[in-house]
Amino acid sequence: IGYFQQGTFSLSPSQVQASRAYAGMVMTRFAPEPNGPLHLGHARAIHMNFSVARRYGGQCILRFDDTNPRTARQAYCDEGLEMVRWLGYSPASVSYTSDYFDDLLMLSACRLIVDGAAFVCHEQLREGVYYRAVRNSPWRNRSPSENMKEFKMMCVGLYREGEAVLRLKVRTRSGLRDPVAYRVCNSEHYRSGTRWCVFPTYDFSHSIIDSHEGIAVSLCSAEFASHRSIYQWIQKKLGMYRVPQREFQRLEVGGCLLSKRQLIAGLGTSFHTYDDPRLATLTGLRRRGIPPEAIRRFVREGYREYEQLLDLTREVLLLQAKHCMVVLQPLACHVVNYDKVAAAEGMAGQVLVSLQAQESQAGHNSLGHHVTLSSVIYINQYDFHLRETRHYFTPTSPVRLRGTCYAMHLCSMERGDGGEVVSLQVLLRKVEGKVKSMKVLTWVSEPVPVTLNFFDSPNRRGPFLYSQLPPVCSTTALMEAGPLSGLRLGRYFTYGQTLQAERFAYITLDPSSSSSSSSSPSSLSSPSDDDPV
Ligand code: ATP
Ligand code: MG
Ligand code: MG
Repeated sequence: IGYFQQGTFSLSPSQVQASRAYAGMVMTRFAPEPNGPLHLGHARAIHMNFSVARRYGGQCILRFDDTNPRTARQAYCDEGLEMVRWLGYSPASVSYTSDYFDDLLMLSACRLIVDGAAFVCHEQLREGVYYRAVRNSPWRNRSPSENMKEFKMMCVGLYREGEAVLRLKVRTRSGLRDPVAYRVCNSEHYRSGTRWCVFPTYDFSHSIIDSHEGIAVSLCSAEFASHRSIYQWIQKKLGMYRVPQREFQRLEVGGCLLSKRQLIAGLGTSFHTYDDPRLATLTGLRRRGIPPEAIRRFVREGYREYEQLLDLTREVLLLQAKHCMVVLQPLACHVVNYDKVAAAEGMAGQVLVSLQAQESQAGHNSLGHHVTLSSVIYINQYDFHLRETRHYFTPTSPVRLRGTCYAMHLCSMERGDGGEVVSLQVLLRKVEGKVKSMKVLTWVSEPVPVTLNFFDSPNRRGPFLYSQLPPVCSTTALMEAGPLSGLRLGRYFTYGQTLQAERFAYITLDPSSSSSSSSSPSSLSSPSDDDPV
């Protein structure tokens, strides 16, 4: 079987015709098991299914494959739908495998028993092991009526878990034999409750529901290649609409864990949450500030390195993100002629500056919001030098405040006990004309204190370990209040938005309230009204 690579999958004209005749249009489905968080690998499967449907003018269904009552949770379904939508895809409908427990799946099982194509087996085999059974089950040749009686006993709870399973009577060329169709499980199901104590398997339910929903092609990852003949056998035996199965390669990204099961298993022993910005879960990537467009391009264009995802992120944000200014090591500059400036602006006590929109490299307006200019301005300590230095503020060379037409001139400075400069007295003067030739500094006034958390890329060497996630580096900074307060132009720094902090980094608001990290458990806590953002 040749796996197809990204974006190259197409349906044959007869497949298109068959699915249109059956379902009215080309349908596909993305069918995650709601047993854990969706991750970057799922984004690839989502993209495949939605893009095939779109190519043929069809639609894609989101189906939660909730056959395992022990692990399926409504919360994962809710989050799954939210993340599919966040990525920018709209499912035609949302369905659940458990929607079909009562009739379709149960009736299909009975039908196969009656036809002599399924039997109840009592061998104590762990699920997963059954495929490789080397010899025939001693119960393989039971009569249909005996199997029916046994299956009823399974269904009404007369067998305990592991004591009986319903098997399909099929042997595949790849060596799988008699796969399990139904098993006993005495856990309460999050949707069907205690109504059933038997549950269908993935193999059984997928084949039947794909056919029932009129799916044009069953796209799945490569590990299901050996299940293909079982998938086809079931539809054939039941005389159902036949769906071709095609496999694609699982996405693997160095340093990232892209399996739900392993993500969950690992979380059990660490104190991380699965929306940790260093994980490649979709919630983690969202929290990190990766825009959905970057993820879509990543999977569409077949990238495989985390660094490439960050590159795409920068490409997308360069065009989208609004700009703001932050100051890391604040040096206070007291404006000695503030009253005069305010009077000249026609505002007593407070100056409102409209930061001039500037053409950025990407050709869009980078600033362009209003901020308050008070009598204290903060600049970065490292932007002030005592000796004449190019690009910096010095006693002999004034600088222009970024986004304004004010030049700042040094009057005097205050020094601490060790002789270090602790604050400045400055004069503001309007500059006309030769604005371009002047040095420009980023600054803030009446700022909001913020805590900034920085995340490194995942460690690509060695196996993934939660304990080896890169540490979170935290620092405090002052951010201009304009984007947060919504002064005049509307608050635009809200959850899910990313800003470019000029000369510094892309920053996004962290909505999470209860997360922690290995290096500094308190550093990721959420903002409250009194705390720094
Ligand atoms: P589990 O570990 O529980 O099996 P999973 O990560 O394999 O979880 P599933 O819910 O089984 O996720 O998969 C839903 C769909 O997403 C399937 O079609 C599966 O093939 C696909 N998928 C899962 N992981 C990847 C991946 N890394 N790359 C591409 N597709 C993936
Ligand atoms: Mg699974
Ligand atoms: Mg899987």
